[in-house]
Amino acid sequence: MTAGPVLVINSGSSSLKYQLLKPDSAEVLASGLIEQIGEPTGRITHETDSRTTTEEAPVDDHGFALTALREQFDQHGPNLDEVGIAAVGHRVVHGGPDFSDPVIIDDAVLAEIEALSPLAPLHNPAAVSGIRAARARFDVPHVAVFDTAFFAGLPDAAKTYAIDRELAAEHKIRKYGFHGTSHEYVSRQAAEELGVPVEDLNMVIFHLGNGASASAVQGGKAIETSMGLTPLQGLVMGTRSGDIDPSIYTFLHNTADLSIAEIDTVLNKQSGLKGLCGDNDFRVISDRIAHDDAAARAAFDVYLHRLRLYLGAYAFTLGRLDLVVFTAGVGENSSLVRAEATRGLEHFGLQLDEDRNAPRSKESRIISADHSPVTIMVVPTNEELAIARKAHKLVG
Ligand code: ADP
Repeated sequence: MTAGPVLVINSGSSSLKYQLLKPDSAEVLASGLIEQIGEPTGRITHETDSRTTTEEAPVDDHGFALTALREQFDQHGPNLDEVGIAAVGHRVVHGGPDFSDPVIIDDAVLAEIEALSPLAPLHNPAAVSGIRAARARFDVPHVAVFDTAFFAGLPDAAKTYAIDRELAAEHKIRKYGFHGTSHEYVSRQAAEELGVPVEDLNMVIFHLGNGASASAVQGGKAIETSMGLTPLQGLVMGTRSGDIDPSIYTFLHNTADLSIAEIDTVLNKQSGLKGLCGDNDFRVISDRIAHDDAAARAAFDVYLHRLRLYLGAYAFTLGRLDLVVFTAGVGENSSLVRAEATRGLEHFGLQLDEDRNAPRSKESRIISADHSPVTIMVVPTNEELAIARKAHKLVG
């Protein structure tokens, strides 16, 4: 029996993405984006295989967004009553210390997700609003899939910050890691493509989108990841600083007279590539580099330097490295990033094949030379499909 389609919802604070897809065939029946939630103007885009429609209308809150979502299906199809949704899968950013697996959402689970809001003030409240609104409109099982879940089993030494133990315990301060659904999916896809059981592979995965993270995956289990208590830690990102000396917070507060909230905004929204060169889109940065723009090149160099530090550290942590995988917008599309990330590492077993690396493709592919001891791959991520499959598995 084929599985009924799953509606996957990703509720952000000012936008909501959705996709209706079949978990077994990965066929996408419809997808959409509702933007500028809570602002005087809103935009709703709905896409089916035959057409894309866009409407401008205010979307006051997530309740309105879910009403708009239903209307899009009623007006432009597919007919939700006819397709018979099997479940709604919700992406939830922070699962805290207790959610290590997807879970069917009831009132108690929703209250727990809400209680984790201090750990993810930008993300979890939006997910809670989206879940509440969706439960009121879709009378099917709702499943929460957590971005942190794949990293729930990190070894203690990896997930522990060297700060006062009692303080950390009281406030649940530890490394949680994010993008876990993507890292897990990509690790399985890569193993499948190679025809090797994931249990036999040690890999470093780079999820390089606007947000960016690295993971070390040993025999299918994550043993390190670059994001921390929040998604601010780790690699240089589009607008986030990644790793900095934590004293910069105090220093900026004392010397630049910035409030904690302002510093938070600087580090999350005005740093990373954007802070360094004014742009955070790698297409623009690559173009600027091609035109000898010094600031863009300098930003790129900082980005690559950090990325290579993580590659080296994770390879040593794994002890044996079989595979390096690049995914997400930058990882899948920027041959320049992949080339420079692996340049000069032949002595460590990484031999990129330039001719394999250069072409653009939406398919999984090997980009290392045949004789390279470490395989290098590009594997497109698909978080919606991963969420749909997890939701479907749970509701049977
Ligand atoms: P997120 O989900 O974090 O918003 P994505 O995984 O969609 O991010 O990646 C978005 C980023 O991918 C863009 O900001 C852009 O920098 C990069 N990107 C997309 N297409 C290309 C391309 N053709 N070449 C280089 N970078 C690209």
